Amino acid sequence: MSLTKAQAQKIASGLKPETRAFIAGSFRDASDGATFATINPATGETLAHVAHSTGSDVDRAVVAARRTFDDGAWSRAAPEGRKAVLLKLADLVREHREELAVLESLDSGKTITDCLHEIGNEVPTFFQWYAELADKSFGKVAPTGEENLALIVKEPAGVVGLVLPWNFPLLMAAWKLAPALAAGCSCIVKPAEQTPLTALRLAELAREAGVPDGALSVLPGLGETTGQAIGRHPDIDIVSFTGSTEVGAYFLRYAGESNLKVIGLEMGGKSPFIVLDDADLNDDLIEHAAMSAFWNGGQNCSANMRQLVDATLVEDFAERVIARAKNFFVGDPLDPETSIGAMVTAEHQDRVMSYIGKGKAEGARLLTGGDAFGPGCFIQPAVFADLTPDMTISREEIFGPVLGILPVKGMDEALQIARDSEYGLHASVFTRDIDRAIHMARRLPCGTVSVNGFSEGNVTTPFGGYRKSGSLSRDNGAEAMDQYLQTKTIWICTSQPGAA
Ligand code: NDP
Repeated sequence: MSLTKAQAQKIASGLKPETRAFIAGSFRDASDGATFATINPATGETLAHVAHSTGSDVDRAVVAARRTFDDGAWSRAAPEGRKAVLLKLADLVREHREELAVLESLDSGKTITDCLHEIGNEVPTFFQWYAELADKSFGKVAPTGEENLALIVKEPAGVVGLVLPWNFPLLMAAWKLAPALAAGCSCIVKPAEQTPLTALRLAELAREAGVPDGALSVLPGLGETTGQAIGRHPDIDIVSFTGSTEVGAYFLRYAGESNLKVIGLEMGGKSPFIVLDDADLNDDLIEHAAMSAFWNGGQNCSANMRQLVDATLVEDFAERVIARAKNFFVGDPLDPETSIGAMVTAEHQDRVMSYIGKGKAEGARLLTGGDAFGPGCFIQPAVFADLTPDMTISREEIFGPVLGILPVKGMDEALQIARDSEYGLHASVFTRDIDRAIHMARRLPCGTVSVNGFSEGNVTTPFGGYRKSGSLSRDNGAEAMDQYLQTKTIWICTSQPGAA
């Protein structure tokens, strides 16, 4: 599935994105009429002025969500009913994938190729997979004596707030919405301020698919206002958040200072890509190394920016990674030849460039790239060598197209440096020895370890972090849906009509 640049531009010129908040089945302006601009980072052009949802808008969405939850139109609907609606939503996303992908690309600076893949394949897969899970998730019967029957039933948890990041806007909406809706919860989505447009279009498609009014609201807005109002709302039961560790911590505070809502956190990372001395240094490995750092312009929580390469291989590795980095084409996100689009905002571009500056100042050797250019927020992928574990760029999340090589001596040193991080989201390990792979995987403190390839897993596998990368909550897999279900014990005292 692809679009030529001309086709993408033609779709772009015909778009008229919805900019109002979606509350209780209809679109409306913010209660005070306020808006904020969403900008195309590839051109600097303002795409639209979008409703800045206020605290009263959050209240209105929560009241509608609770009413719908309590009346049972969605929460107590037969699971096969929810399944049919979510399957239809998957179909509608597929049907509108080109329009959605172009909209996403314009709003985020992501490449059209990635947007088409995420929206044409992954987003519908998530809705479909959780639709199928909706009528296959069972409770239990506990072991008791004959005088009792103990049923452990699963019930939807209530009203949930889903606070999203900008790096995979519609995909993250699907990661969180699909399991929450499949579980029967009423959902309130706050997209990131940089990328609100596709979530608003998704709301229209969800309404068309049959998601009842109130079971889904989409509230564009800013973090400190709209996001905080969701975090502090006394009638929201769960918030699932993806974003920075700093804001994740705010949500814990909001919960503590309001109703002790459950907070699920998926946050940043500083993930290692470990190449042991027996790894097969083939083209496949180099491709994984480059993609793990540069995919989505490095704006990825699981980016494997810290590449710990055995000293015996490091020279060859660096040479080949440089050659691959030079082959990335950075530019117009709507061009299918582009492999890295724009950084999401000029501010974020500056942030990434300041890390590149720190890398140089602290003595890392810049081997290629690292230049910013415009118009638009572009950065050539940078490869640094001679990183040491204490450098700023070895420790802090950059969230840009920067790959750093740290030479290591043997498996134990690789493990020790890899573990020395406050984050714990992801790691990749390359070795031909399965025992060493398992040894490393067991000892790396992170939620996903991929062996001989860079991967976050797929819809079936839980994704989330250890340490400051996350809480015990997980996106994806059956575990994600369980987070939106609560168990209830029904303890039945049975009468004893007499011995059999
Ligand atoms: P944030 O953590 O600031 O934003 C994530 C979401 O939280 C957005 O919807 C945001 O709204 C909202 N938010 C922001 N501030 C508050 C607040 N005070 N109260 C409630 N909600 C709030 O991430 P950024 O987008 O600013 O990115 C900063 C850094 O975070 C990145 O450089 C990267 O290091 C990391 N990050 C990690 C991601 C991941 O996948 N784990 C994804 C995105 C970022 P608004 O958009 O209005 O700010």
